[in-house]
Amino acid sequence: MRVTWTGGELGFRLDPEDEITGRAADGYPVKLAINSCALSGVPDDAHPDLFAVAAWTVVAPWTRRKITFDRAVSAEVAAALHDGWGIEAGPVGAEPRRAGRTLAISYSGGADSVAAAAVYPDAPFVHFRRVSHPRVPNRWPHYRSDVLAKLAERTGRDLTVVGSDLEFTLAEPRPGYPEHHAVAAGALLLADRLGLGGLGFGYELGSRWLGGDRYVLRYTPDNVLWAPHGAWGRLFAAVGVHIVLPVGGVSEAVTMRLAVNSDLKDQVRWCLRGTDGPCRTCGKCLYKELILAAVERRPLDTPITADRPVARKWRLPPPYGGQEMIEYGLARVPGIEHTLFAKALDHLRPTEESTSWLDHCYPPSIEEIPAPWRERAAAFMAEHVGFMTDDEIRRVETWGS
Ligand SMILES: [Zn+2]
Repeated sequence: MRVTWTGGELGFRLDPEDEITGRAADGYPVKLAINSCALSGVPDDAHPDLFAVAAWTVVAPWTRRKITFDRAVSAEVAAALHDGWGIEAGPVGAEPRRAGRTLAISYSGGADSVAAAAVYPDAPFVHFRRVSHPRVPNRWPHYRSDVLAKLAERTGRDLTVVGSDLEFTLAEPRPGYPEHHAVAAGALLLADRLGLGGLGFGYELGSRWLGGDRYVLRYTPDNVLWAPHGAWGRLFAAVGVHIVLPVGGVSEAVTMRLAVNSDLKDQVRWCLRGTDGPCRTCGKCLYKELILAAVERRPLDTPITADRPVARKWRLPPPYGGQEMIEYGLARVPGIEHTLFAKALDHLRPTEESTSWLDHCYPPSIEEIPAPWRERAAAFMAEHVGFMTDDEIRRVETWGS
């Protein structure tokens, strides 16, 4: 792989051994659509390591053996790429970047990132906004990134919006981040300007510890994506932008509760489609409605009926993505046995007792927050959430086994 930056424009060329259909760090197959993308509003004089890691978040799935950058990187970055991915990176020759002192939040506006923001009320935001690619047709026009960017502006936080078409480098399954970390490409290039030493993400207990989302449902302390000692954690650390997961120890029930009770509650939006509010008809709206109804202890309020395609997966047996939250909702939403979740209820039969661990914070998630920001997170969790008991900790650590 050969990469070239021209200002905020990234071009890349595959080497003979590279592949058009690659694999992201989570094992997901991703097919290349086009070998260029751009980020707006980023400086062109960032540290070369920042350009290198920003590029890696885009090109990693399609890179097999080596990567050649257009400017020398530090030995530290080359070592992190070698140790994490077995990739030869060069040329090597730059001094490593020194970490700054500021923690910014990679802010999407969803409940999880609003909760992360609530932990650090003074942290600036960097918001990734999808824009169209000049040479790739947009096959998924429902995504209202303009609405999400407006909501981010209304938070009143110190905000930098980075527009990018990098999701269109990915042809299949549909436009999206080539690697999850590509959401941070703009923040990385801004790291010198913002004095960043850390970047906070809204990844919660399920993503960090339970192997949720695209993965197998199993306790995963060595999660390659988000563990500080994982490949990505070490790569980000090598450029002095430590990955921080302020809500990595709490479930989506807790992030939901924190979000709807926070100063930013009027700007929370997990739906990518809605304009004046959540669309209420997409799969994500349904999933979040189950969690919100559980948190508010009220019946499910959705126009989606069991015969809709979006409800199909709830007619099938588990496992489900985010299954811990499905169990949490099933155990708490009054009348859930009369909804489209009835089949899932038959299969899982959770109770409030079997899901109470999802109301508390998993202590190791605090220990892995870098020192400058740890105490604040610990105090926040003690005050607003509470920590898991030993029994509850065991629930986390035996998940899926
Ligand atoms: Zn929706």
